[in-house]
Amino acid sequence: MKRLFLILTCLLFVACAPPDDNHGYGYEYDNLDEETGLRERGFSSYLAGARTAEELGADYLALANCGGFERTRPAPLIIFVKGEVLKNGARVYGLYFRDTLTAVVSMDSSHKRKTVNHELMHHLNNINKTNDGHNSEHFTNCVN
Ligand SMILES: [Zn+2]
Repeated sequence: MKRLFLILTCLLFVACAPPDDNHGYGYEYDNLDEETGLRERGFSSYLAGARTAEELGADYLALANCGGFERTRPAPLIIFVKGEVLKNGARVYGLYFRDTLTAVVSMDSSHKRKTVNHELMHHLNNINKTNDGHNSEHFTNCVN
């Protein structure tokens, strides 16, 4: 019985621990915004004249200010990818992983900035433990 408990405890721990590979996206980043700690990967390599990590960090702070959030750290990792992003088999423009504090944004999105801000709001709701539903006023009032 004790052995079974240990095995189940181990399985539970493995299931709850953040995945080593960050859901297949990894943890590498190209740029860091020193002020917020926000990291991004892939934006500049796909789009000429891409916004910098500092600009993304400024958007992040503006969202936090709009939502009245106290916590902004730890800041997220934003990964820009070519092609589609899948969530439970369905195609989406953006995806946020609560366990690894990572947002994945498709470069196919025609509203990349809005998509990024949407995923940043998920992150702020997550680390501040506030209502994360899409009906939350944070989305309607602050994400443009
Ligand atoms: Zn969402």
